[in-house]
Amino acid sequence: MREAEIVIVGGGPAGLAAALEAGAAGGEVILLDEYHSLGGQFYKQLPDAFTMKRGKMEAHQAEGAKLIHQLRAGKIEVLLGTLVWGLFPDRTLAVFRDEMAEQIRAKQLILAPGAQEVPLAFPGWTLPGVMLGGAAQALMVNQRVLPGQRVVLAGAGPLQLKVASQFIDAGAEVVDILEASSKPPTSMENALRAFGHWGKMREGLEYWLKIKKAGTPYHPHHIPVRAVGDKELEAVVVAQVDAEWRVRPGTERTLEVDTLCLSYGFLPANQLPRLAGCESVYDAELGGWVTRHDDRQETSVRGLYVAGEVGGIGGADVAEEEGRIAAISSLRALGQGNEEELRKSEKRSRTRLADARRFARLTREMMRLRPALFDVMTDETVVCRCEEVCVRDVKAAIADGAPTLRGVKIRTRAGMGVCQGRMCGYLISQLIARQAGIALDRIEPDTPRPPVKPVPLRVLAATLDQ
Ligand SMILES: Cc1cc2nc3c(=O)[nH]c(=O)nc-3n(C[C@H](O)[C@H](O)[C@H](O)COP(=O)(O)OP(=O)(O)OC[C@H]3O[C@@H](n4cnc5c(N)ncnc54)[C@H](O)[C@@H]3O)c2cc1C
Repeated sequence: MREAEIVIVGGGPAGLAAALEAGAAGGEVILLDEYHSLGGQFYKQLPDAFTMKRGKMEAHQAEGAKLIHQLRAGKIEVLLGTLVWGLFPDRTLAVFRDEMAEQIRAKQLILAPGAQEVPLAFPGWTLPGVMLGGAAQALMVNQRVLPGQRVVLAGAGPLQLKVASQFIDAGAEVVDILEASSKPPTSMENALRAFGHWGKMREGLEYWLKIKKAGTPYHPHHIPVRAVGDKELEAVVVAQVDAEWRVRPGTERTLEVDTLCLSYGFLPANQLPRLAGCESVYDAELGGWVTRHDDRQETSVRGLYVAGEVGGIGGADVAEEEGRIAAISSLRALGQGNEEELRKSEKRSRTRLADARRFARLTREMMRLRPALFDVMTDETVVCRCEEVCVRDVKAAIADGAPTLRGVKIRTRAGMGVCQGRMCGYLISQLIARQAGIALDRIEPDTPRPPVKPVPLRVLAATLDQ
């Protein structure tokens, strides 16, 4: 088994910043990511294997490229295409890479695995052509692939403006943008609240102007209620909603599109910290179940830190500063680095973090979901797509005395498939909350088990032999 002083899981803004900070202070660092390029969700890069780098690099991609260049110039060991599928005592990681199983024990471990997007289920949502914003972005920015020609975007908050602008740049026709709330992110009220965050305001305005220039309609108080198609998406039925996002009967209309892109916010990807025994707490504002940590980013497990979305949804700037602070904390725990330098760096990070968190509060407010959004699920809607379990089956399980994720799983198999409940767990929690009248903060996430993501059985067998 390998040993390393500082191991960082996740090469997004949080993990990159942590690695740079720890590396600059001379720490022995390994940075792992399951993808084949660094950058995570925000700083996505084209794979190294792409020899034709045609097309303009986005501003964030260019910023990410600079950070990655700095990182590569240092002594940090970067292991890409490396999935962490298990976490065992003493901060021991089980990893899968190059068809091989390996274990790495970290003296200090920083987990920065990011977030997943909020899923929304409604009739037809499993049709090819219905996708989440992050997936559409990954196709366009990472792979230079246009997901569709005629697109409707639906969601809450400013991120879908960015995705819409990326679709327009890539040559798609954005047929409509549906915002569930009453005000666009660029409304006067939101602009006043964002006062002082000039960079973010300018960015939002640029997206908005591009959308207006393209003549794209923008409809506040609208959501999708049904996706229609035979083998793939052909149309989306959309409807007006009231202030609580309840559908107004008789307002449905149909948009003929081949792509529906959903952006209803994020959920912390906390499977790895929970597997390691870190305590979670429910914080609706921060995205639901988040990994509890102190202001040094240390969790309830000694020597294990979290940074970025896994500890609460806050955006890329928050993630980066938390990454730096986690690295400084682990350097201190190892007795490494020049304390004077660490203090200076920490002070700078804490100032930037406070500012980034102020802006994050504003975006989270724009993205706050109203429970009636989930009324679009009908009894026939598939809720667990891995095991093909529909809402009716889940409701029957809840009525049968199973108002927990585990109870529903045992009775229906929902959550037992390859995604291990990452997609359906949140939707089932919503169903339990409304049917059994239990608050979401009382509905515990299901216990994660290794492997947290699929690995071949031979990897498990090889790990047992080690
Ligand atoms: C469509 C969209 C638009 C967005 N626009 C903005 C924006 O304009 N401004 C903004 O501030 N934020 C934006 N965000 C949010 C932003 O992407 C995140 O805040 C930021 O990426 C969080 O950084 P992170 O390092 O915590 O996680 P991530 O960037 O998600 O990085 C996590 C990394 O961990 C790796 N990983 C996860 N699990 C494992 C594992 N088991 N083994 C190995 N590796 C693993 C992943 O491969 C990933 O590379 C947007 C997000 C989306 C989806």
